[in-house]
Amino acid sequence: MGLFVYRVVRRLVDRVLVAVGRVPNTEGLNLEGVGVEVRNGAVVVDDHSRTNVPSIYAAGDVTGKYMLASVAKVQGIVAAENAAGLNTRIDYELIPMVVFSDPEIASVGIVASKDDPRYIVTKMPNAINYRAIAYNKPYGWTKIVADRISRRIVGFHMIGPWASEIVNTASIAIRKGGLTLDELKEWVFSHPVFTELFIDAVELASGSNVYLPKR
Ligand SMILES: Cc1cc2nc3c(=O)[nH]c(=O)nc-3n(C[C@H](O)[C@H](O)[C@H](O)COP(=O)(O)OP(=O)(O)OC[C@H]3O[C@@H](n4cnc5c(N)ncnc54)[C@H](O)[C@@H]3O)c2cc1C
Repeated sequence: MGLFVYRVVRRLVDRVLVAVGRVPNTEGLNLEGVGVEVRNGAVVVDDHSRTNVPSIYAAGDVTGKYMLASVAKVQGIVAAENAAGLNTRIDYELIPMVVFSDPEIASVGIVASKDDPRYIVTKMPNAINYRAIAYNKPYGWTKIVADRISRRIVGFHMIGPWASEIVNTASIAIRKGGLTLDELKEWVFSHPVFTELFIDAVELASGSNVYLPKR
């Protein structure tokens, strides 16, 4: 498959730059000397950004967790606050993942197939969104994953305009057990906005959608 993709790309462009993969840079810090636990080159921390040595905290790529600036920032705040005597933690349960391509790709929470009986999984075409039409970006789709029994939203996945922004709205809805599809449907969003893609996809997951023709 990789070779196939490579051959197709070779026909379309002259050069391909593959810049993936990062590793924690812990060399030369004498971590072993001070007794800090290092696993696979990364400093082991808990969700309070504490290492195994009480006076030493770590944040960022050096912890080898998600290696994202968004995570590094919160890890750093948490490290500083705990070092100052507070008791704060980072929630690693829900980290939005984004690819800043065109179209953008964004994902948070549980990934499930539509055949999985545990979940309601719906995929909505973004072409229904008025703002997307106005901006000539009516492409891609928005997927909602909800627990079939509780009807709580547990996953959001999107390819399309402003996916990198909308994923954060979804993240708030999913956090701490998640809101139910019926609770979410009560929210009134401003109009016309790209974020309506989220609430419209929720509507579809709950069994209706005012913009999609009935089948
Ligand atoms: C091409 C690329 C694109 C990315 N895009 C995104 C993105 O879109 N969104 C996102 O969330 N994340 C992105 N990331 C990841 C993000 O940049 C990192 O997760 C983030 O910068 C980690 O922060 P950090 O402070 O741990 O490390 P860094 O930002 O790497 O900072 C470490 C600093 O420590 C310095 N340093 C190293 N060794 C020593 C030493 N011995 N003594 C003193 N100083 C030292 C370095 O010079 C550097 O200034 C991207 C990364 C790359 C490479």
